[in-house]
Amino acid sequence: MNFDHYDDDSVAIALDLINHYGTAPRMAAGAHDTPLPDLGCFLEERQVSSAGVRTGDEAAAQQLADRLHAVFTTHDAGDAAATINAVLADHGAVPHLTEHDDPGWHLHYQPAGVGPIDRLAVVAAMGLATVLRTSGIRRFGRCDATACRDVYVDTSRNNRRRFCGETCANRSHVAAHRARQRADEHTA
Ligand SMILES: [Zn+2]
Ligand SMILES: [Zn+2]
Repeated sequence: MNFDHYDDDSVAIALDLINHYGTAPRMAAGAHDTPLPDLGCFLEERQVSSAGVRTGDEAAAQQLADRLHAVFTTHDAGDAAATINAVLADHGAVPHLTEHDDPGWHLHYQPAGVGPIDRLAVVAAMGLATVLRTSGIRRFGRCDATACRDVYVDTSRNNRRRFCGETCANRSHVAAHRARQRADEHTA
């Protein structure tokens, strides 16, 4: 991935950041007592450079995740925009044109050599900015399944998605079906 391409990759990174490090999703999943994922691995697995990762950066990643999580809990586009803008400003986003290699002139959003948390923050915030700008606040959602509060971006046509993914959707449908069966047995 190129850092200058703020598209699906950066949206996926924002979601992964919040779901892996965010306090609320980790609490819901019962993972809050386990150590935070290693930040170097997290970045490398998503083709983001892990250069400069230091001990304690996981805690900074969690703070960042909790901050961006607010975009998924507010229903106010203005609040979401303010959060995204503040993260971009605080992490030194400086859009500038550059022409260092193949694609020719393109935008970079950060100076070269920034630290990993700043790198991650700007990538994630640009991903969320793109969703808000192109699709609106109603696309930001939180999973309805029991024991899951993972966030997602609803790309469905009717904007009626309720779950973070297939696993949670299936599990919830099975649970609802069993509950209905039990209710039927009682009334039979
Ligand atoms: Zn470039
Ligand atoms: Zn879920």
